[in-house]
Amino acid sequence: MIDPQKIWSSSNLPTLPTVAIELLELSKDPDSEVSDFIRLIKSDPAITAKILKASNSTYAGFKNPITSIDRAVPLLGTTVVTSLALSFSLSDSAHAAGPMANSFKHYWKSSVVRASACEVIAREYHHGLESDFFLAGLLSGLGQLAMLKTIPIDYLPVLEKFESSEEPLHKLETEILGVNHIEAGINLMNAWKLPIAFQHCVRHQADPLDVIEQVESGEDLDMVRAVAVAAAVSDYFCTHQKGAALHRLQSLTPVFYKWTDKDLEDRLQQMKDRIDEAAELFSIDTSGFDSLGDIMSQASEQLALLAVRAHVASTQAVVRQQMVEEEVKQLEQKNQELTEQAIRDVLTGVYNRKFFDESLQKEIARATRNATTIGVIFLDIDHFKNLNDTYGHQFGDEVLKHVASKLEKTLRTTDTLGRYGGEEFVALICQPTTKGITKVADRLREAVEGLKILFNDKPVPVTVSVGACIAMPQRNAMKIGEQLVTEADAAMYDSKRNGRNQIHVRSIIDPTQEHLTQLSNQKRFSRWLVRHGHASIEDVSQVLLNCHSPHEKIGVLAQKTGYLTAEQVDAVLEEQKKSNERFGMTAISMGLISEDQVAWLLALQQEDPGQVAQALAEKGCINGEILHSLMSIHKHEVDPTLMAKKPVPGGSAT
Ligand code: GH3
Ligand code: MG
Ligand code: MG
Repeated sequence: MIDPQKIWSSSNLPTLPTVAIELLELSKDPDSEVSDFIRLIKSDPAITAKILKASNSTYAGFKNPITSIDRAVPLLGTTVVTSLALSFSLSDSAHAAGPMANSFKHYWKSSVVRASACEVIAREYHHGLESDFFLAGLLSGLGQLAMLKTIPIDYLPVLEKFESSEEPLHKLETEILGVNHIEAGINLMNAWKLPIAFQHCVRHQADPLDVIEQVESGEDLDMVRAVAVAAAVSDYFCTHQKGAALHRLQSLTPVFYKWTDKDLEDRLQQMKDRIDEAAELFSIDTSGFDSLGDIMSQASEQLALLAVRAHVASTQAVVRQQMVEEEVKQLEQKNQELTEQAIRDVLTGVYNRKFFDESLQKEIARATRNATTIGVIFLDIDHFKNLNDTYGHQFGDEVLKHVASKLEKTLRTTDTLGRYGGEEFVALICQPTTKGITKVADRLREAVEGLKILFNDKPVPVTVSVGACIAMPQRNAMKIGEQLVTEADAAMYDSKRNGRNQIHVRSIIDPTQEHLTQLSNQKRFSRWLVRHGHASIEDVSQVLLNCHSPHEKIGVLAQKTGYLTAEQVDAVLEEQKKSNERFGMTAISMGLISEDQVAWLLALQQEDPGQVAQALAEKGCINGEILHSLMSIHKHEVDPTLMAKKPVPGGSAT
């Protein structure tokens, strides 16, 4: 990387001779006269001689010899003269000796090619502006001159590398030096105060088609397009990147000039002819140029190769992508397997004790948040030692697998089954009622009893002793998990002591709390609908799965219903800090609210009657109109504020 200042502030930066600068100034001045140009040119004998030479060359194309500058200037026109004077100045600074000589020559050749290409385009599409376009093309590579002059030691290796590179020169320059000839060109043009149009041309010469097409016509679009084409033409004639240059010409010119491939070939020929005409005048050596046919076949060959390579690259990219995806998939699968191994019991495939314990803690946290119940069922195979002793350890293993599988199938998917120890299993039951967990426990017991496990074709009876425990975690319940398991285990021993193959259920829910829960469950709209035969348990259960509990804080609900004022809610919250009890219980013991009111608030917290009704109506279980009346009746039956009042027949709910 180099410091760009090294270029901008270098004393080697090319300068224009005074005559050229003054000619430029004159051509910008609308009041200037031909005589002014003539006087100025005459002041520089070297430029005078060169312009006279130009007037008599095939390049100018006049039949009769022109012997004086006074005739040459009006004949050529002031723009042409200015343009020639500038070109000669540049040509002079591009003819250096030494190790960089070839690079200077190459730069100058490419500039003349660009100039000729622009001129050919102008002749066809922008008549009268040929000299301006010529100059725009000629100056478009100026940045390279600046770099050759100011940072030759850094720049030469880049040019050498370019010889075998497939990257465009300006990109390679940026990569290696951190600055490129396009930027350098714009800067130098600024320093020379050249027309802004030329700067636009330099800026956009290597831009993609869509970027060039966004250039406004006010920004000299015609010239910008011509220079972009000319830059590609110079790459086509003067560099090894002929295929890429042809590709660019084939993509630019149909859009700019509606050229077909044949049109392009014709114009390239015209350009080549014009280059030959300009060669002597601008001291360039065209002997290094191949014939147009040769260039075209080289370019086509490269183009085909580039296309093949692009295809291969994209195919390889696809293959690589597929390999990566496959690897990711395998890794994910492996991960999944490892996770499963870490949480599953190897023999039975049900969860292991560690996973069960973690699930229990999570479920307790949820139950605490949502003020719901949680249950644990403990199961221990009866006389398992006997089974092992009688039929062998291997048969014992088979029994364990059968029992585990049966238990898993009998439980709901939302419940978690784990192997707790040797022949002990444990199930985590979400949101059970005491009645519910009792049923589940007995269903599990029955399922095992019903298993037909054979040893030598003879059935071997297998039974389990079951103990269950239900809890409703309080805010202060720290060790509720341990307590649940201990109590369920103890209940299981009750079953053992009592003769095995039976269940015992314990509850560690506070009786007041239990009563409150029952009361609030009765008030829930879903339960009410089932109780009164308006909906089936199946429909209601399904609907409830899709309804979200509102879970608004009881304090908030109490304020909404008008049971408590904001001050009272604050007082309860303050008291709660000491009691560590649930909000409802605290409010009841403070005498601020009745048990019935708390039960109604709890019911509302569990489910929103409106939401349940809407879901039932959508499912088509109950007619929407009737549901409306049912909601009203329900509210009057369970809402403590309305319970005294009777609903207005056919009236809407309040
Ligand atoms: P109870 O009805 O009182 O529960 O009697 P039990 O024989 O089932 O209870 P005990 O605790 O005396 O015996 C449990 C046996 O389970 C002892 C142990 O060898 C056996 N066991 C523990 N893990 C495995 C196992 O993975 N495979 C087999 N086959 N047996 C096991
Ligand atoms: Mg045991
Ligand atoms: Mg046992």
